[in-house]
Amino acid sequence: MQKFITFLVRKIPRPILIKFSFLFSKLTSVFYKGNKYKCPVCQNEFRKLLPYGNKGIDNRLCPSCLSLERHRLLWLFLKEKTDFFERKIKLLHIAPEQPFLKKFKNLSNLEYITADLVSPIADVKLDIQNIPFAENEFDVVFANHVLEHIPDEHKAISEVFRILKNGGWAIMQVPLDVKRNTTYEDSSIVTPSEREKHFGQYDHLRLHGLDFAQRLEKGGFKVEIIDLVSEIGIEKSDYYRLDNTEKIYLCKKNTNDTK
Ligand SMILES: [Zn+2]
Repeated sequence: MQKFITFLVRKIPRPILIKFSFLFSKLTSVFYKGNKYKCPVCQNEFRKLLPYGNKGIDNRLCPSCLSLERHRLLWLFLKEKTDFFERKIKLLHIAPEQPFLKKFKNLSNLEYITADLVSPIADVKLDIQNIPFAENEFDVVFANHVLEHIPDEHKAISEVFRILKNGGWAIMQVPLDVKRNTTYEDSSIVTPSEREKHFGQYDHLRLHGLDFAQRLEKGGFKVEIIDLVSEIGIEKSDYYRLDNTEKIYLCKKNTNDTK
């Protein structure tokens, strides 16, 4: 049975798995039940997690809510480092991550707007390089795993800065190569196979490096890099199955400081 589940996870794209997750999680919760790992998003415990990715690396995908390492880290960050779950917040969620969608919709403190360039389930269709909202409108903006797809990244970052209220903040995580000091971009690399080879995925336009904070700062933000994995320690980060190299880039808009 476990082999069958692994086979399904490898063969079926994650968005389809998510669509049928109510069935899937019933199936997997029996076979993956345990107490070795815990998903902080759905609060369930498992003996192991599902494999994920081309190489089918084990222990990555939550058998219940289908969260990945980056979703679990962001959830913990929101819980432990922000008042996201308590304060009245107007949130724009660009390219909304499925494991968060239902949870955010159920939070009564949020005025929650989802947006996407293509997805029909989003509230608003928009291009992040030209956001159809007035300035100073949102308390929080999420646009995770978006910037690596965007031709004019600087314009996108500046647009998110523009629509945030003073004192507001954004999270715009990207796949980051921690061995790289400078972001790798080359506009002559255009074919899907070349992009996959150079940037790690067929539709990525760059591979971000450690200069990511400076790139965010160029759009006007003050950036705080939060290493939550180090703060909570190796044992707990293994319990939650986090990526030990990922850090949260908290982007704050504070125009009072710059005047
Ligand atoms: Zn979960």
